[in-house]
Amino acid sequence: MDLKQYVTIVEDWPKKGVRFKDITTLMDNGDAYRYATDQIVEYAKEMNIDLVVGPEARGFIIGCPVAYVLGVGFAPVRKEGKLPRETVKVDYGLEYGKDVLTIHKDAIRPGQRVLITDDLLATGGTIEATIKLVEELGGVVAGCAFLIELTYLNGREKLNGYDMLRLMEY
Ligand code: 5GP
Repeated sequence: MDLKQYVTIVEDWPKKGVRFKDITTLMDNGDAYRYATDQIVEYAKEMNIDLVVGPEARGFIIGCPVAYVLGVGFAPVRKEGKLPRETVKVDYGLEYGKDVLTIHKDAIRPGQRVLITDDLLATGGTIEATIKLVEELGGVVAGCAFLIELTYLNGREKLNGYDMLRLMEY
């Protein structure tokens, strides 16, 4: 299946000069969403994953159905102030600004093998921060899976040494 036909390019959003890749048109097509999910499940099956971790909010959309099929849990990574219990946090640089990401301190047990999911790899700031959180809790990053990689932003450099899958590139 050619997944790109389900991605909508939005010009000048959220600011001038950005060509935003809108994946909501992929998600609201049942066949495309399932196909994308199945590809990531296939990738993860060989990895002995214990847990899927994804940053808000689109990392949930990608990661939760994968966790469900694999029969493992899902742990959310969220912006500061959103998680109700004790967290660890990390500052990160984002394509459009700066922010803080957090995860519950007890979300991962040391040695657990983690698949990280997000919709899109741009500069790599978000995935780098998410990897830091997983590793701070003693998790092992078995792989990272994205729908889309924006290759011209070189986010892949932040993934040096980590296994990654992406279903589309721009
Ligand atoms: P990075 O941290 O790699 O620079 O940016 C990736 C994060 O920003 C992802 O969590 C992703 O959801 C969001 N993002 C940045 N650009 C786009 C885009 O064009 N489309 C979508 N859907 N998300 C984007």
